[in-house]
Amino acid sequence: MDLLNTLVDKGLRREQPTREEALAVLATSDDELLDVVAAAGKVRRHWFGRRVKLNYLVNLKSGLCPEDCSYCSQRLGSKADILKYTWLKPDEASKAAAAGLAGGAKRVCLVASGRGPTDRDVDRVSETIKAIKDQHEDVEVCACLGLLSDGQAERLREAGADAYNHNLNTSEATYGDITTTHTYADRVDTVRKAHAAGLSACSGLIAGMGESDEDLVDVVFSLRALDPDSVPVNFLIPFEGTPLAKEWNLTPQRCLRILAMVRFVCPDVEVRIAGGREVHLRTMQPLALHLANSIFLGDYLTSEGQAGKADLEMIADAGFEVEGAGEVTLPEHRAQAGGGCGSHEGGGVCGSAAAAPSPAEPRTDLVAVRRRGAGTDVAPNA
Ligand code: SF4
Repeated sequence: MDLLNTLVDKGLRREQPTREEALAVLATSDDELLDVVAAAGKVRRHWFGRRVKLNYLVNLKSGLCPEDCSYCSQRLGSKADILKYTWLKPDEASKAAAAGLAGGAKRVCLVASGRGPTDRDVDRVSETIKAIKDQHEDVEVCACLGLLSDGQAERLREAGADAYNHNLNTSEATYGDITTTHTYADRVDTVRKAHAAGLSACSGLIAGMGESDEDLVDVVFSLRALDPDSVPVNFLIPFEGTPLAKEWNLTPQRCLRILAMVRFVCPDVEVRIAGGREVHLRTMQPLALHLANSIFLGDYLTSEGQAGKADLEMIADAGFEVEGAGEVTLPEHRAQAGGGCGSHEGGGVCGSAAAAPSPAEPRTDLVAVRRRGAGTDVAPNA
């Protein structure tokens, strides 16, 4: 297929595909799907070999957010039956992080619900970063605390944070349909602040919120322009009690096409499969490892992931290897530029010529709300 040969060539040269080429990946048929995965897999292996980076989420503060992001189970007015708690103490967060690191994670993502941190919150998170790094010297720490005010990114960097996550989530054109309490421009501004402070920027998207193929290509092209080191791809988990509870639109094939498109547009960037992996990719998860080079181990912010042991077995069975603490994730040109990248987790449409948007069967049986790990007395799932 000429399209795929062109995209592989461009990916190996870090050349941006055209919008038409990116859209054509999303419009491929099921008959072509394995060819698409194989082509994007060549680009993945060129930049990241067969390594899989494991990341571990610690939810420092859960629920009770004043913002209204419609995909989020922690939003204002959410009726989702999730855990709600205020800031974990540094030693509690460090203990939670240790469980993930013991399971093979090399990055800990410290996440807090809310519009953005106060200066006191930045102090708390700085203490937490120190507590974690005192115990685990080599760990990468990414903070994900919402919109940043001037100077806060610099303070987090000084405290030892390696990266900052803030997702664009969807296209600029549809952002106002998803959230009204802050703007797309606010999000772009925070990613830029993190970048400017010397933090490795991590910014991604949520697929499955009713967006068009054009929206998906728009957001991924915008991400490429912002040049983050890592791009988490969330697949919407339609939590009961949120406005998007009925948006069961993704199929495993659609998820693979989306991941392939992201790989072609951001070839040398850490592409991470984030929330919704188990719910939407299901038995196709191992194929997705040919596209993404990074996943979360264990649970997500407010939902349960599959057991860490099952993830490790899947990686080995598929012929991949867990990236070690001493290995550099990013290709040399990025690592030398100072890059080193979590997520407000998506909590879960299809639309292409061949993969017609036949609504996926709701798999509510797979959506388990998290009841263990940080903020609970129950051992985490790592
Ligand atoms: S995504 Fe973040 S800012 Fe938006 S409602 Fe959820 S916790 Fe709040």
